[in-house]
Amino acid sequence: MTAIPFDNSYARMPERFFARTDPSPVSAPRLIRLNRDLARSLGLDPDWLAGPEGLAILAGNRIAAGSAPIATAYAGHQFGHLVPQLGDGRAILLGEVIDRDGIRRDIQLKGSGPTPFSRRGDGRAALGPVLREYVVSEAMAALGIPTTRALAAVTTGERVIRETLLPGAILTRVASSHIRVGTFQFFAIRGDTEGVRHLADHVIARHYPEIAGEAQPYAALLSAVIARQAALVAQWLGVGFIHGVMNTDNMSVAGETIDYGPCAFLDAYDPGTVFSAIDEQGRYAYGNQPMIAQWNLVRLAETLVPLLADGTEAAIRIAEERLAAFGPLFESAYLAGLRRKLGLFTERAEDRALAGALLTAMTENQADFTLTFRHLGAAAADPVQDGPVRDRFIDPTAYDAWAMRWRERLAAEPQGAEERRRAMDRANPAFIPRNHRIEAVIEAAVERDDFAPFAELLTVLSAPYEDQPAFARYAEPPEAHERVHRTFCGT
Ligand code: AMP
Ligand code: MG
Repeated sequence: MTAIPFDNSYARMPERFFARTDPSPVSAPRLIRLNRDLARSLGLDPDWLAGPEGLAILAGNRIAAGSAPIATAYAGHQFGHLVPQLGDGRAILLGEVIDRDGIRRDIQLKGSGPTPFSRRGDGRAALGPVLREYVVSEAMAALGIPTTRALAAVTTGERVIRETLLPGAILTRVASSHIRVGTFQFFAIRGDTEGVRHLADHVIARHYPEIAGEAQPYAALLSAVIARQAALVAQWLGVGFIHGVMNTDNMSVAGETIDYGPCAFLDAYDPGTVFSAIDEQGRYAYGNQPMIAQWNLVRLAETLVPLLADGTEAAIRIAEERLAAFGPLFESAYLAGLRRKLGLFTERAEDRALAGALLTAMTENQADFTLTFRHLGAAAADPVQDGPVRDRFIDPTAYDAWAMRWRERLAAEPQGAEERRRAMDRANPAFIPRNHRIEAVIEAAVERDDFAPFAELLTVLSAPYEDQPAFARYAEPPEAHERVHRTFCGT
């Protein structure tokens, strides 16, 4: 008998933290994809999960032994507006397991039917967004960026009603937790300070055990979340990722990328880029993400105020001191990332301006973000290789002017060309989940029940820093007619 060794700490929290809710069965589940490596890392038997018992669990048709299904409560600022109650409206936490590294992981079904938090929604997910989240979250993991993971995708055999009828699907999501800034807000806005404290203690024990013994554990918690978010957003910018809907309910206090809705990767570099169809003001544009992360962290700090000091004024002072760290932490992580992308091992004061000049030239010349940096690796070793970089610029001389400065700077580096090249290839992916590729995968699956493009894209994206000559076409930006201008959250 195989089983999932559940140990459900969140379901042992006070009852007001969640609603006990079973998934709703579906008529004809079919396994589209099982992430076998991830299953093994969770200590689960992939063959069993892919078999009839596993499929029934992944489809919500059967409650696994030891599972304690719950929909968690949270609130959140959506596009700057506070919504006092959101919660898992189309997701159900099956439970937690301790993985091979000793880390507690949530196993959650997304699209498994209504919960008390569904409001007017159906609790279901369409196949397209499930495949999108699967592809992009696994790509992020392979890029080395903290993220929730995709354990499985199943189709339900049922249709969901969106603008049209679409095939329904369920994603099994794995996360180090699903606790969000909005989870803290849920209790804070109800004046439930004990709820906030209970949640904070849980988060410290679970995600930041190193601060448990500190004199000011809640201030330390705030600092720890700030540090992880600063590092995370710096990594996003380094690969051209746009989250698309950085509401406070979509920001994990564990510092993982969570909630892949209308997310997208830049093709041409432009910090003002917005893909999300619902982001009319450009609030969540690529270049706004650090500022928005900080805004969200201020909302987190507000929830912690009653725990930070006896008097409100003293507490606010502590919160402000801690929040002030975000800017410098982000800047230094971002700059460190840019240095790696440019092949710089040492630090010089002029590096920020050097990187900024390249980014400005790229914006003015619609240069592809990923390929420009990828090709810089070869150009660093040999100026004869400038061609592929120059070709990314509408006016290639814009690159030439910058490259002179860059080469002067490289000359001051102690590393050899080969070492630099290898380091740059590890910092500059060749393959990202480009929007037009994701759209093609979704179209094949939804229109033709063809999942081969999905599988192939996953294969390519599992090794983003390798050249993979057989898949070179996947590195290319879209042709004009392939370009995706808008992405949708798909709820
Ligand atoms: P999201 O835009 O995915 O961050 O979701 C925002 C809120 O809407 C969350 O509370 C979700 O649970 C809820 N929601 C999104 N889609 C659905 C759906 N199809 N049915 C019920 N609730 C949903
Ligand atoms: Mg969400």
